[in-house]
Amino acid sequence: MSDQPASEGPMNLPVVEPAATTPYAENTRAVHAPRPDLSAVRPLGLPTYRTAAFEFERTQDYADVLGDRKPGYSYSRIDNPTADAFALGLASLEAHGLDRPVAAQVFASGMAAISTVFLSLCRSGAHVVAPAAVYGGTYGLLTHILGRFGVDASFVDMTDLETVRGAIRDNTALVWAETIANPTTAITDIAGVAALCRDAGVPFAIDSTFAPAPVCRPLRWGADLVVHSATKYLGGHSDVLAGALVTAKLDDAWAALAQLRHDEGAVLGPVEAWLLLRGMRTLYARVERQSQTAFVLATKLAARGVAVDYPGLQNHPGHAVAARQMQGGFGGMLSIRVADPLAVVGKLRVWVPATSLGGVESLIEHRASVEGPTSPTPKSLLRLSVGLEHPDDLWSDLVQALA
Ligand code: PLP
Repeated sequence: MSDQPASEGPMNLPVVEPAATTPYAENTRAVHAPRPDLSAVRPLGLPTYRTAAFEFERTQDYADVLGDRKPGYSYSRIDNPTADAFALGLASLEAHGLDRPVAAQVFASGMAAISTVFLSLCRSGAHVVAPAAVYGGTYGLLTHILGRFGVDASFVDMTDLETVRGAIRDNTALVWAETIANPTTAITDIAGVAALCRDAGVPFAIDSTFAPAPVCRPLRWGADLVVHSATKYLGGHSDVLAGALVTAKLDDAWAALAQLRHDEGAVLGPVEAWLLLRGMRTLYARVERQSQTAFVLATKLAARGVAVDYPGLQNHPGHAVAARQMQGGFGGMLSIRVADPLAVVGKLRVWVPATSLGGVESLIEHRASVEGPTSPTPKSLLRLSVGLEHPDDLWSDLVQALA
Protein backbone atom coordinates (compact mmCIF):
# COMPACT_ATOMS: atom_id res chain seq x y z
CA MET A 1 0.00 0.00 0.00
CA SER A 2 1.89 3.04 -1.27
CA ASP A 3 -0.27 5.88 0.04
CA GLN A 4 0.42 5.39 3.75
CA PRO A 5 2.24 8.58 4.64
CA ALA A 6 5.66 8.04 6.21
CA SER A 7 8.57 10.46 6.37
CA GLU A 8 11.78 11.20 8.21
CA GLY A 9 11.90 13.35 11.32
CA PRO A 10 14.86 14.87 13.17
CA MET A 11 18.03 12.70 13.22
CA ASN A 12 16.55 10.59 10.39
CA LEU A 13 14.11 8.99 12.81
CA PRO A 14 11.12 7.47 11.00
CA VAL A 15 7.77 9.14 11.62
CA VAL A 16 4.27 8.61 10.25
CA GLU A 17 2.01 11.49 9.33
CA PRO A 18 -1.07 12.12 11.51
CA ALA A 19 -3.53 9.21 11.42
CA ALA A 20 -6.25 11.68 10.45
CA THR A 21 -4.57 12.20 7.05
CA THR A 22 -4.89 8.55 6.01
CA PRO A 23 -8.09 7.27 4.45
CA TYR A 24 -7.69 3.84 6.07
CA ALA A 25 -9.00 2.31 9.27
CA GLU A 26 -6.62 1.37 12.08
CA ASN A 27 -6.70 -2.39 11.40
CA THR A 28 -6.07 -1.82 7.68
CA ARG A 29 -3.03 0.24 8.65
CA ALA A 30 -1.94 -2.59 10.97
CA VAL A 31 -2.03 -5.06 8.07
CA HIS A 32 -0.31 -2.71 5.60
CA ALA A 33 2.16 -1.07 7.98
CA PRO A 34 4.37 1.60 6.36
CA ARG A 35 7.92 0.59 5.47
CA PRO A 36 11.09 2.66 5.19
CA ASP A 37 12.18 3.44 1.64
CA LEU A 38 14.63 0.62 0.84
CA SER A 39 15.17 1.41 -2.84
CA ALA A 40 18.68 2.87 -2.31
CA VAL A 41 19.66 0.56 0.57
CA ARG A 42 22.55 -1.86 -0.01
CA PRO A 43 23.02 -3.99 3.12
CA LEU A 44 26.47 -5.51 3.56
CA GLY A 45 24.98 -8.66 5.09
CA LEU A 46 22.30 -10.32 2.97
CA PRO A 47 18.82 -9.92 4.49
CA THR A 48 16.69 -13.00 5.10
CA TYR A 49 13.91 -12.70 2.51
CA ARG A 50 11.37 -14.21 4.83
CA THR A 51 8.44 -13.96 2.45
CA ALA A 52 6.25 -16.54 0.75
CA ALA A 53 5.32 -14.24 -2.15
CA PHE A 54 6.60 -11.10 -3.93
CA GLU A 55 4.56 -8.04 -4.88
CA PHE A 56 4.12 -6.73 -8.44
CA GLU A 57 2.81 -3.45 -9.85
CA ARG A 58 1.01 -5.24 -12.70
CA THR A 59 -0.39 -8.76 -13.05
CA GLN A 60 1.42 -9.14 -16.40
CA ASP A 61 4.82 -8.61 -14.68
CA TYR A 62 4.04 -11.35 -12.22
CA ALA A 63 2.78 -13.66 -14.98
CA ASP A 64 6.00 -13.05 -16.97
CA VAL A 65 8.21 -13.91 -13.99
CA LEU A 66 6.18 -17.01 -13.22
CA GLY A 67 6.30 -18.03 -16.90
CA ASP A 68 10.12 -17.57 -17.02
CA ARG A 69 9.81 -14.76 -19.60
CA LYS A 70 11.38 -12.25 -17.20
CA PRO A 71 13.87 -12.59 -14.33
CA GLY A 72 12.55 -11.98 -10.83
CA TYR A 73 10.89 -13.62 -7.86
CA SER A 74 7.22 -14.51 -7.57
CA TYR A 75 6.78 -17.26 -4.98
CA SER A 76 9.32 -18.79 -2.58
CA ARG A 77 8.48 -22.40 -3.46
CA ILE A 78 9.94 -21.52 -6.85
CA ASP A 79 12.80 -19.17 -5.94
CA ASN A 80 13.85 -17.03 -3.03
CA PRO A 81 16.73 -14.51 -3.02
CA THR A 82 18.31 -15.83 0.20
CA ALA A 83 18.12 -19.43 -1.04
CA ASP A 84 19.54 -18.33 -4.41
CA ALA A 85 22.43 -16.60 -2.63
CA PHE A 86 23.31 -19.88 -0.91
CA ALA A 87 23.03 -21.74 -4.23
CA LEU A 88 25.36 -19.21 -5.91
CA GLY A 89 27.86 -19.39 -3.04
CA LEU A 90 27.98 -23.18 -3.17
CA ALA A 91 28.26 -23.23 -6.98
CA SER A 92 31.20 -20.84 -6.81
CA LEU A 93 33.04 -23.23 -4.46
CA GLU A 94 32.41 -26.28 -6.65
CA ALA A 95 33.33 -24.29 -9.78
CA HIS A 96 36.89 -23.72 -8.57
CA GLY A 97 39.30 -24.91 -11.28
CA LEU A 98 36.59 -25.43 -13.94
CA ASP A 99 36.24 -23.43 -17.14
CA ARG A 100 32.48 -24.05 -17.47
CA PRO A 101 29.51 -22.37 -15.75
CA VAL A 102 28.35 -24.18 -12.62
CA ALA A 103 24.93 -24.03 -10.98
CA ALA A 104 23.41 -25.29 -7.73
CA GLN A 105 19.86 -25.98 -6.57
CA VAL A 106 19.10 -26.03 -2.87
CA PHE A 107 16.65 -28.21 -0.95
CA ALA A 108 14.97 -28.63 2.43
CA SER A 109 17.34 -31.49 3.38
CA GLY A 110 19.95 -33.81 1.93
CA MET A 111 17.30 -36.48 1.48
CA ALA A 112 15.04 -34.01 -0.35
CA ALA A 113 17.90 -33.41 -2.82
CA ILE A 114 18.61 -37.15 -3.13
CA SER A 115 14.99 -38.17 -3.65
CA THR A 116 14.56 -35.44 -6.29
CA VAL A 117 17.49 -36.90 -8.27
CA PHE A 118 16.07 -40.45 -8.23
CA LEU A 119 12.49 -39.34 -8.94
CA SER A 120 13.62 -37.14 -11.81
CA LEU A 121 16.02 -39.55 -13.51
CA CYS A 122 14.26 -42.91 -12.95
CA ARG A 123 11.14 -44.26 -14.64
CA SER A 124 9.40 -47.53 -13.83
CA GLY A 125 11.67 -50.32 -15.08
CA ALA A 126 14.83 -48.26 -14.53
CA HIS A 127 17.93 -49.56 -12.78
CA VAL A 128 20.38 -47.79 -10.46
CA VAL A 129 23.93 -48.80 -9.49
CA ALA A 130 24.82 -47.70 -5.95
CA PRO A 131 27.55 -48.55 -3.43
CA ALA A 132 27.06 -51.50 -1.08
CA ALA A 133 28.17 -49.13 1.71
CA VAL A 134 25.68 -46.40 0.76
CA TYR A 135 24.21 -43.97 3.33
CA GLY A 136 21.24 -45.67 5.04
CA GLY A 137 18.68 -43.03 3.99
CA THR A 138 19.62 -43.47 0.33
CA TYR A 139 19.48 -47.25 0.70
CA GLY A 140 16.01 -47.03 2.27
CA LEU A 141 14.74 -44.73 -0.46
CA LEU A 142 16.00 -47.02 -3.22
CA THR A 143 14.76 -50.26 -1.70
CA HIS A 144 11.60 -49.34 0.21
CA ILE A 145 10.17 -46.47 -1.85
CA LEU A 146 11.54 -46.66 -5.40
CA GLY A 147 11.32 -50.45 -5.37
CA ARG A 148 7.52 -50.04 -5.11
CA PHE A 149 7.55 -48.02 -8.34
CA GLY A 150 9.49 -50.64 -10.29
CA VAL A 151 12.98 -49.18 -9.90
CA ASP A 152 15.65 -51.80 -9.33
CA ALA A 153 19.00 -51.17 -7.63
CA SER A 154 22.30 -53.09 -7.56
CA PHE A 155 24.48 -52.39 -4.52
CA VAL A 156 28.09 -53.03 -5.49
CA ASP A 157 31.65 -52.46 -4.30
CA MET A 158 32.13 -48.94 -5.67
CA THR A 159 35.89 -49.11 -5.10
CA ASP A 160 36.19 -51.85 -7.77
CA LEU A 161 35.81 -50.25 -11.21
CA GLU A 162 35.35 -53.56 -13.04
CA THR A 163 32.51 -54.50 -10.70
CA VAL A 164 30.86 -51.14 -11.36
CA ARG A 165 31.27 -51.58 -15.13
CA GLY A 166 29.78 -55.07 -14.92
CA ALA A 167 26.78 -53.81 -12.94
CA ILE A 168 25.71 -51.24 -15.57
CA ARG A 169 22.82 -52.54 -17.69
CA ASP A 170 20.96 -51.25 -20.74
CA ASN A 171 18.26 -49.86 -18.44
CA THR A 172 20.67 -48.25 -15.94
CA ALA A 173 19.44 -44.68 -15.44
CA LEU A 174 22.02 -43.56 -12.90
CA VAL A 175 25.24 -44.54 -11.17
CA TRP A 176 25.34 -43.25 -7.60
CA ALA A 177 28.46 -43.07 -5.40
CA GLU A 178 29.78 -41.37 -2.28
CA THR A 179 33.16 -39.58 -2.26
CA ILE A 180 33.94 -41.04 1.17
CA ALA A 181 31.58 -43.85 2.16
CA ASN A 182 29.55 -43.59 5.35
CA PRO A 183 30.74 -44.96 7.79
CA THR A 184 33.45 -47.19 6.31
CA THR A 185 35.48 -44.28 4.77
CA ALA A 186 35.92 -46.30 1.53
CA ILE A 187 37.04 -43.97 -1.27
CA THR A 188 35.41 -43.77 -4.72
CA ASP A 189 37.74 -43.18 -7.66
CA ILE A 190 35.59 -40.39 -9.10
CA ALA A 191 37.51 -40.00 -12.37
CA GLY A 192 37.45 -43.80 -12.89
CA VAL A 193 33.69 -44.15 -12.31
CA ALA A 194 33.02 -40.99 -14.36
CA ALA A 195 34.96 -42.42 -17.33
CA LEU A 196 33.06 -45.67 -17.39
CA CYS A 197 29.72 -43.83 -16.99
CA ARG A 198 30.65 -41.63 -19.96
CA ASP A 199 31.45 -44.76 -22.02
CA ALA A 200 28.08 -46.27 -21.08
CA GLY A 201 26.16 -42.99 -21.54
CA VAL A 202 24.82 -43.12 -17.98
CA PRO A 203 24.65 -40.08 -15.65
CA PHE A 204 26.92 -40.19 -12.60
CA ALA A 205 25.87 -38.55 -9.32
CA ILE A 206 28.08 -38.44 -6.25
CA ASP A 207 27.12 -37.69 -2.66
CA SER A 208 30.04 -35.61 -1.40
CA THR A 209 28.59 -34.78 2.02
CA PHE A 210 31.71 -36.15 3.79
CA ALA A 211 34.10 -34.21 1.53
CA PRO A 212 32.91 -30.67 0.78
CA ALA A 213 35.19 -28.09 -0.82
CA PRO A 214 38.06 -27.55 -0.19
CA VAL A 215 38.53 -31.32 0.44
CA CYS A 216 37.06 -32.46 -2.89
CA ARG A 217 35.31 -30.91 -5.89
CA PRO A 218 33.87 -33.91 -7.80
CA LEU A 219 32.89 -31.89 -10.91
CA ARG A 220 36.60 -31.51 -11.62
CA TRP A 221 36.93 -35.29 -11.71
CA GLY A 222 34.05 -35.77 -14.12
CA ALA A 223 30.95 -36.30 -11.94
CA ASP A 224 27.76 -35.02 -13.61
CA LEU A 225 25.97 -34.15 -10.39
CA VAL A 226 27.30 -33.44 -6.89
CA VAL A 227 24.95 -34.01 -3.96
CA HIS A 228 25.35 -32.56 -0.47
CA SER A 229 23.60 -32.90 2.80
CA ALA A 230 24.30 -29.25 3.64
CA THR A 231 23.12 -30.11 7.15
CA LYS A 232 26.68 -31.28 7.75
CA TYR A 233 29.86 -29.36 6.83
CA LEU A 234 28.27 -26.62 4.71
CA GLY A 235 26.09 -25.43 7.60
CA GLY A 236 28.72 -26.57 10.06
CA HIS A 237 26.94 -25.73 13.31
CA SER A 238 24.44 -28.62 13.69
CA ASP A 239 21.55 -26.15 13.63
CA VAL A 240 20.06 -26.42 10.15
CA LEU A 241 18.74 -29.08 7.73
CA ALA A 242 19.47 -28.55 4.06
CA GLY A 243 20.54 -30.24 0.84
CA ALA A 244 22.02 -29.22 -2.48
CA LEU A 245 22.75 -30.39 -6.02
CA VAL A 246 25.55 -28.93 -8.13
CA THR A 247 26.32 -29.44 -11.82
CA ALA A 248 28.31 -28.07 -14.74
CA LYS A 249 25.81 -29.60 -17.21
CA LEU A 250 23.07 -27.00 -17.59
CA ASP A 251 20.89 -29.24 -19.76
CA ASP A 252 17.26 -30.43 -19.88
CA ALA A 253 17.92 -32.90 -17.05
CA TRP A 254 18.98 -29.98 -14.82
CA ALA A 255 15.83 -28.03 -15.74
CA ALA A 256 13.73 -31.14 -15.02
CA LEU A 257 15.30 -31.39 -11.54
CA ALA A 258 14.33 -27.74 -10.88
CA GLN A 259 10.79 -28.39 -12.11
CA LEU A 260 10.42 -31.38 -9.79
CA ARG A 261 11.85 -29.39 -6.88
CA HIS A 262 9.18 -26.73 -7.45
CA ASP A 263 6.41 -29.26 -7.92
CA GLU A 264 7.20 -31.39 -4.89
CA GLY A 265 7.99 -28.30 -2.77
CA ALA A 266 11.22 -29.68 -1.33
CA VAL A 267 12.72 -26.20 -1.24
CA LEU A 268 15.07 -24.54 1.23
CA GLY A 269 13.51 -21.94 3.53
CA PRO A 270 15.06 -18.44 3.66
CA VAL A 271 15.97 -18.66 7.35
CA GLU A 272 17.88 -21.91 6.76
CA ALA A 273 19.52 -20.38 3.68
CA TRP A 274 20.72 -17.45 5.76
CA LEU A 275 22.20 -19.81 8.38
CA LEU A 276 23.97 -21.72 5.61
CA LEU A 277 25.40 -18.53 4.11
CA ARG A 278 26.70 -17.62 7.56
CA GLY A 279 28.16 -21.11 8.00
CA MET A 280 29.72 -21.24 4.56
CA ARG A 281 31.85 -18.17 5.28
CA THR A 282 33.92 -20.24 7.68
CA LEU A 283 33.76 -23.50 5.70
CA TYR A 284 37.39 -23.46 4.62
CA ALA A 285 38.72 -22.48 8.05
CA ARG A 286 36.59 -25.17 9.72
CA VAL A 287 37.27 -27.99 7.29
CA GLU A 288 41.00 -27.35 7.10
CA ARG A 289 41.24 -27.39 10.89
CA GLN A 290 38.98 -30.47 11.17
CA SER A 291 41.10 -32.29 8.57
CA GLN A 292 44.31 -31.42 10.43
CA THR A 293 42.93 -32.59 13.78
CA ALA A 294 41.50 -35.78 12.24
CA PHE A 295 44.89 -36.56 10.71
CA VAL A 296 46.65 -36.04 14.06
CA LEU A 297 44.14 -38.21 15.91
CA ALA A 298 44.17 -40.97 13.27
CA THR A 299 47.97 -41.07 13.33
CA LYS A 300 48.09 -41.26 17.13
CA LEU A 301 45.36 -43.92 17.27
CA ALA A 302 47.18 -46.06 14.70
CA ALA A 303 50.47 -45.65 16.64
CA ARG A 304 48.65 -46.85 19.75
CA GLY A 305 47.54 -50.00 17.93
CA VAL A 306 43.86 -49.02 17.51
CA ALA A 307 42.31 -50.20 14.21
CA VAL A 308 41.55 -46.90 12.48
CA ASP A 309 40.16 -46.08 9.03
CA TYR A 310 41.14 -42.63 7.77
CA PRO A 311 41.81 -41.88 4.09
CA GLY A 312 44.81 -39.72 5.05
CA LEU A 313 46.68 -42.72 6.47
CA GLN A 314 49.03 -44.43 4.03
CA ASN A 315 47.70 -47.88 4.92
CA HIS A 316 44.09 -46.94 4.05
CA PRO A 317 43.09 -48.95 0.95
CA GLY A 318 41.86 -45.80 -0.78
CA HIS A 319 44.78 -43.56 0.21
CA ALA A 320 46.34 -43.23 -3.26
CA VAL A 321 42.99 -42.28 -4.85
CA ALA A 322 42.19 -39.94 -1.95
CA ALA A 323 45.59 -38.24 -2.25
CA ARG A 324 44.89 -37.59 -5.94
CA GLN A 325 41.34 -36.26 -5.72
CA MET A 326 41.35 -34.54 -2.32
CA GLN A 327 43.25 -31.31 -2.24
CA GLY A 328 42.31 -29.64 1.02
CA GLY A 329 43.14 -32.42 3.48
CA PHE A 330 41.33 -35.73 3.92
CA GLY A 331 38.30 -34.47 5.82
CA GLY A 332 37.19 -34.74 9.42
CA MET A 333 35.62 -38.23 9.41
CA LEU A 334 37.31 -41.36 10.70
CA SER A 335 36.22 -44.66 12.12
CA ILE A 336 37.80 -46.94 14.68
CA ARG A 337 37.12 -50.56 15.57
CA VAL A 338 37.28 -51.49 19.26
CA ALA A 339 36.30 -54.49 21.36
CA ASP A 340 33.62 -52.77 23.46
CA PRO A 341 32.41 -49.72 21.50
CA LEU A 342 29.45 -48.85 23.73
CA ALA A 343 31.68 -48.81 26.84
CA VAL A 344 34.05 -46.42 25.06
CA VAL A 345 31.18 -44.07 24.13
CA GLY A 346 29.94 -44.20 27.73
CA LYS A 347 33.28 -42.97 29.11
CA LEU A 348 33.78 -40.02 26.74
CA ARG A 349 33.39 -36.49 28.13
CA VAL A 350 34.34 -34.18 25.24
CA TRP A 351 33.12 -36.28 22.30
CA VAL A 352 29.32 -36.16 22.14
CA PRO A 353 27.32 -39.30 21.31
CA ALA A 354 24.97 -38.08 18.57
CA THR A 355 24.07 -38.77 14.99
CA SER A 356 24.95 -36.33 12.19
CA LEU A 357 28.43 -34.99 11.48
CA GLY A 358 30.45 -32.06 10.18
CA GLY A 359 29.60 -29.60 12.96
CA VAL A 360 31.86 -27.62 15.26
CA GLU A 361 31.44 -30.17 18.06
CA SER A 362 33.09 -33.60 17.86
CA LEU A 363 30.54 -36.40 17.62
CA ILE A 364 30.81 -40.16 18.01
CA GLU A 365 28.31 -42.73 16.81
CA HIS A 366 27.87 -46.49 17.02
CA ARG A 367 26.24 -46.97 13.61
CA ALA A 368 25.40 -50.66 14.15
CA SER A 369 23.12 -49.72 17.09
CA VAL A 370 21.46 -46.97 15.04
CA GLU A 371 20.99 -49.18 11.96
CA GLY A 372 19.52 -52.12 13.90
CA PRO A 373 19.96 -55.90 13.65
CA THR A 374 20.29 -55.98 9.83
CA SER A 375 23.05 -53.34 9.84
CA PRO A 376 25.95 -54.13 7.47
CA THR A 377 28.26 -52.00 9.67
CA PRO A 378 30.66 -53.99 11.88
CA LYS A 379 29.50 -54.01 15.52
CA SER A 380 32.97 -52.95 16.64
CA LEU A 381 32.92 -49.74 14.52
CA LEU A 382 32.62 -46.24 15.97
CA ARG A 383 32.25 -43.29 13.58
CA LEU A 384 34.00 -40.11 14.67
CA SER A 385 33.22 -36.64 13.32
CA VAL A 386 36.02 -34.31 14.36
CA GLY A 387 34.99 -30.81 15.44
CA LEU A 388 36.88 -27.67 16.37
CA GLU A 389 37.90 -28.46 19.95
CA HIS A 390 41.60 -28.44 20.81
CA PRO A 391 43.23 -31.65 19.48
CA ASP A 392 44.81 -32.30 22.90
CA ASP A 393 41.41 -32.37 24.61
CA LEU A 394 40.00 -34.71 21.98
CA TRP A 395 43.02 -36.98 22.25
CA SER A 396 43.13 -37.22 26.07
CA ASP A 397 39.37 -37.90 26.15
CA LEU A 398 39.84 -40.77 23.67
CA VAL A 399 42.83 -42.13 25.60
CA GLN A 400 40.95 -42.27 28.92
CA ALA A 401 37.90 -43.87 27.24
CA LEU A 402 39.96 -46.49 25.38
CA ALA A 403 42.03 -47.37 28.48
N1 PLP B 1 24.12 -38.27 2.62
C1 PLP B 1 24.96 -38.60 3.62
C2 PLP B 1 26.31 -39.16 3.31
C3 PLP B 1 24.55 -38.42 4.96
O1 PLP B 1 25.39 -38.76 5.95
C4 PLP B 1 23.26 -37.90 5.22
C5 PLP B 1 22.78 -37.70 6.60
O2 PLP B 1 23.37 -38.15 7.55
C6 PLP B 1 22.42 -37.58 4.13
C7 PLP B 1 22.90 -37.77 2.85
C8 PLP B 1 21.03 -37.07 4.35
O3 PLP B 1 21.05 -35.72 4.68
P1 PLP B 1 19.88 -34.99 5.52
O4 PLP B 1 19.87 -35.59 6.89
O5 PLP B 1 20.27 -33.55 5.44
O6 PLP B 1 18.60 -35.27 4.81
